[in-house]
Amino acid sequence: MTILITGGAGYIGSHTCVELLNNGETIIVVDNFSNSKPEALNRVQQITGKTFRIYDADLLDKKQLREIFLENEDIDAVIHFAGLKAVGESVAVPLSYYRNNINGTLVLCEVMQEFTVKNLVFSSSATVYGATDQVPITENSPLGSTNPYGRTKVMIEQILGDIAFADPDWSIASLRYFNPVGAHESGLIGEDPHGIPNNLMPFISQVAVGKREELHIFGREYNTRDGTGVRDYIHVVDLAKGHLKALEKVTAMKGMDAYNLGTGKGLSVLEMVMAFENAANKTIPFRFTEPRPGDVAVCYADPSKAGSQLGWQAERGPEAMCKDTWRWQRNNPSGYDRKTLTVYKEKTPRHEPVEFFNS
Ligand code: NAD
Ligand code: UDP
Repeated sequence: MTILITGGAGYIGSHTCVELLNNGETIIVVDNFSNSKPEALNRVQQITGKTFRIYDADLLDKKQLREIFLENEDIDAVIHFAGLKAVGESVAVPLSYYRNNINGTLVLCEVMQEFTVKNLVFSSSATVYGATDQVPITENSPLGSTNPYGRTKVMIEQILGDIAFADPDWSIASLRYFNPVGAHESGLIGEDPHGIPNNLMPFISQVAVGKREELHIFGREYNTRDGTGVRDYIHVVDLAKGHLKALEKVTAMKGMDAYNLGTGKGLSVLEMVMAFENAANKTIPFRFTEPRPGDVAVCYADPSKAGSQLGWQAERGPEAMCKDTWRWQRNNPSGYDRKTLTVYKEKTPRHEPVEFFNS
């Protein structure tokens, strides 16, 4: 199959590119690199030994996107990762979020419709369930989000549902990710957040590598095992594999459906800190601070629908999540900045940069 991947240079996209290439698929990446680096795609090529087309293009640019579809007549399906994803930023600049995420998806779907490419896998999020305290969360839990980022995901799901209803040739899977963490086991690709990380795992790993002094644990009086917040952390490679299963589904069925991608198990902040300390053999200094506004105590998935309907389930536990994160962080203390690539520079042969297609 030939799969067009929007946002393929990003954290989840790059790991999915690896799994698709290893599965023998042809991929085409479209990314504007607003939150990623081309180097991530060089690394994808290094891991897989395969090349692919990369377009430095913005989804909002319909003309450019049409040209990409014109140049690539054989696209069977699209995986749509491209979007802005920081909750706090979305509260500060909602227009940017609505414009990029909603308009980007509208333009993409219009062009897909025009070129009769009607198989789509969409990156949704557990944030579509809002601040529910009913766990485990099934796909039937009420939707409603508490911030502009989450609302873009809810709105996009509604738009996709309307598209699939209006034209029964469309086939769409919306994947609601829980908390993606971890990195590829090669240590070559991983999460590379700009500035101070918002999320727990990159923050812990930056403390471990000495970039930050201590972790602030937001709240210690939640009604949980140890008083700290509980989340469903899912290894990014398991998540990436879920996209291959979803692709099988969308190319075999019609209509739209949504699937939770999580492990079904909740881990507390303190449990994650301990798992990381064991994996990295390091102490993570932390102190407790006030709860973060808007945080729920507990959030984890019921992933049984993805199990029964996609034939997917998570295989990697907290040890692999932490070990793989640590390998990535230790080897790339400044992310994809080439100057700081320490270990693999010596160990792996030089690779040619991927071919760039600027339309
Ligand atoms: P990311 O920021 O690493 O990747 C997104 C990619 O999309 C980036 O490479 C960025 O440059 C690109 N992009 C953004 N806007 C674009 C545009 N208009 N045109 C072209 N490219 C554009 O994020 P990620 O963590 O890999 O997340 C991928 C998707 O999964 C996002 O839609 C995100 O909302 C969703 N998601 C992520 C998480 C998470 O915790 N990482 C959780 C749930 C859902
Ligand atoms: N968290 C924390 N310190 C941090 C970042 C996160 O204590 O620096 C906690 C947060 O309160 C939540 C859990 O870690 O209980 C996971 O937070 P994250 O932002 O990674 O995911 P989300 O809350 O969006 O599910």
